[in-house]
Amino acid sequence: MNKPILNIVIPCYNEEEVLPITSKLFLDKIYELIKIGYIDDKSRVLFVNDGSKDKTWDIIKQLSKEDEHYQGICQSRNRGHQNAVLAGMMYSIDKCDMIISIDCDGQDDINAMNEMIEEYQNGCEIVYGVRSKRDTDTVFKRATAQGFYKFLKWMGVETVYNHADYRLVSNRVLKEFKNFKEVNIFLRGMFPLVGFKSTSVFYERNERIAGDSHYPLSKMLALAIDGITSLSIKPIRLITSLGMFVSIISFIGVIWTLIVHFIGNGVAGWASMTSIICFLGGVQLISVGILGEYIGKIYMEVKARPRYIISETTEEDK
Ligand code: UDP
Ligand code: MG
Repeated sequence: MNKPILNIVIPCYNEEEVLPITSKLFLDKIYELIKIGYIDDKSRVLFVNDGSKDKTWDIIKQLSKEDEHYQGICQSRNRGHQNAVLAGMMYSIDKCDMIISIDCDGQDDINAMNEMIEEYQNGCEIVYGVRSKRDTDTVFKRATAQGFYKFLKWMGVETVYNHADYRLVSNRVLKEFKNFKEVNIFLRGMFPLVGFKSTSVFYERNERIAGDSHYPLSKMLALAIDGITSLSIKPIRLITSLGMFVSIISFIGVIWTLIVHFIGNGVAGWASMTSIICFLGGVQLISVGILGEYIGKIYMEVKARPRYIISETTEEDK
């Protein structure tokens, strides 16, 4: 039987400090997997340069000259982690039998790949890498991440708990995934929607090998909002429920005010009046904000701009 071809898809943004170290680890892994007969020699380590401003792309080009198992594609500008992974996956369609997406900073344990491929051999089309421990994350990151997964679930977005973007996907699933045309992408919430047989493999997350995270709180929040609003309309429904609730309370308030007025029991307090006005103002602003978030998303989707643009590949140099 033919051995499957694997592409390891690795998004890279300003990773000149990390790449010289981790690229070797990825290559060693490819050779090990070839040697133990898990994958074909045509398998590749595919770096996706996400518009880096440092020497990342030069390093990738150099690597591709040193060993044919290294390959690189370059995005025309920085588009963010999710789009970089998407570019690598779409580029890999029909060039391999499966891809494994993984960050380039050494945080995800590459040894979990063996088990992922074993699950693929068992017939799984998607294998999710799940962090068994989050010891290396700060208390803040752990708490926000946990809250985020719970919130997603409550919002009706199906995700695999503690799974980020370390996953194996078969070519068959990639081809189906190509039909998910949305511009606002949140991969970990979209893959469960594709279906097919899937499973999880557990690993321990390490410290970043070098450099700093490119996911500050602001980007994490943006990803969280994208994740919720691209995959769930529950917030809009909540606005309706909240609106009804506030209306009922206000109605009771009006009746109460009338009773007080007709009993003639003095002046109604301005404090209660002000707080009601402020409360309603707040609710309205939040609601308009949520609606705005969705309208913005619709606007982006209607424009249907490309989600990635590949400007160069290392294959052209060969
Ligand atoms: N990354 C990317 N584009 C970006 C930001 C990050 O391709 O705009 C890559 C980055 O090089 C790394 C992965 O996405 O391989 C995860 O980023 P990072 O390690 O900074 O995030 P964290 O692990 O802290 O969440
Ligand atoms: Mg990282």
